[in-house]
Amino acid sequence: MKKKSKKKEYAAETRLIYGKPYTAKWDYSHHLIPPISSSSTYRLDTTKRGAKGFIEFAHHAEDFQVKSRAPIYIYDRLGEPNKEILEENLAMAEEGECAVTFSTGMAAISAVCGILAGTGSEIIAHKMLYGCTYSLFKNWYPRYRIKVTWVDFNDQKALSKAITPQTRMLYFETPVNPTMELIDIQKVVEVAKQHNAHRSLQHRIFTVVDNTFATPFCQRPISLGIDFVVNSLTKGLCGFGTDMGGVVVGPEWSYDHLMLYRKDFGGVLATKSAWPILVYGLPSLAVRFRQQLETAQKVAESLERDKRISVVSYPGLDSFPQRSLAREQMQDYDGNFAPGTLLYFIPKGKTPVERKRRADRLVNFIAKQSYTITLAVSLGSIRTLIEHPGSMTHSSIPPQEQLKRGIDPGGVRLSIGLEKAEDIIYDLRKAMDNSM
Ligand SMILES: *Cc1c(COP(=O)(O)O)cnc(C)c1O
Repeated sequence: MKKKSKKKEYAAETRLIYGKPYTAKWDYSHHLIPPISSSSTYRLDTTKRGAKGFIEFAHHAEDFQVKSRAPIYIYDRLGEPNKEILEENLAMAEEGECAVTFSTGMAAISAVCGILAGTGSEIIAHKMLYGCTYSLFKNWYPRYRIKVTWVDFNDQKALSKAITPQTRMLYFETPVNPTMELIDIQKVVEVAKQHNAHRSLQHRIFTVVDNTFATPFCQRPISLGIDFVVNSLTKGLCGFGTDMGGVVVGPEWSYDHLMLYRKDFGGVLATKSAWPILVYGLPSLAVRFRQQLETAQKVAESLERDKRISVVSYPGLDSFPQRSLAREQMQDYDGNFAPGTLLYFIPKGKTPVERKRRADRLVNFIAKQSYTITLAVSLGSIRTLIEHPGSMTHSSIPPQEQLKRGIDPGGVRLSIGLEKAEDIIYDLRKAMDNSM
């Protein structure tokens, strides 16, 4: 695992394959591929070594300044080589200082909230979020007396006004799931900066972005000034639809807090799920996404030309309302425009009921008849997936609220895979011919 080269001499895409030139996490110098580590507990040799391994977790959660690293493995829930090598590579991919993985994306989201917000504090969230994050904030946090305020993050004045002395976190996704609306990351960072100028470290406001839709291939929010990024590893970072996982990437000081949180709340990423993400997912991210981006553009343009569709929302389209922001914010490691692999469209229809009926018919036809498109939730897979957010991923948001927050009852979400663009377009056209 020792190589003399310095990491910056090589392109980010190459580093997604090899990771750090050297890692202390596990010395497997004669393996080309890191072995799957499968041991829930570790032999310690002496009590002294055992005690050393626990030092990392021995401090108080309120202390922001602790810096410790235990290169000793004790028990899988505390740390283990496969996920720690994956964490090093994910931190690099997101251009952050450190990363801690979790069992799912939701476990990662609840962990970052867990270390930043406690009873009596407030989270400000964009008015539209992934359904389960919405449910976490709506159904659970009030029980813990954590207040969540919903604001349109593209309205900086409203965002600034919503901040109170108790605010600890500004939380959002961009692109927004499922509408593909973008939030201007740098403007949110600016709002936080203005307020933080007058705050002590203990009362700082932290910015958190869920980067699941874009993945670090299309956008790196930390490089734009964001404090923390969360990703569901289940989606584009795994890429093949085989494993679940989540990650929090953030500043160095947060590492111990996240590790302590993970140890005590227990949502660790299974070793056997860390391995495929490390060995297949991350190394193939760039090549998968470059192809999927090209296909997404073709599919979006074809849908836009179809008279049966009223709205196609894809940041790569010239008609996309935030086109210039998209070009600035969504870029691959070489600075190429990378507008993502998801698109959202609405069939024509005079009333919401009619649009919903058309969307249902279309998606149901696809579910039964399409070879290249599958009715399933999740996204970022090599297989193209279609779903109806209103009744599926976002069903925890009541229909009236959905309309208010920008989800049309007829809205359909499409996650583009690795099939030939022409085949996906053929299946979509066939479905429209038969259902509309
Ligand atoms: C899927 C998803 C999550 C949750 O991830 P899991 O791995 O399913 O827990 C969070 N945010 C977004 C945007 C997602 O698409």
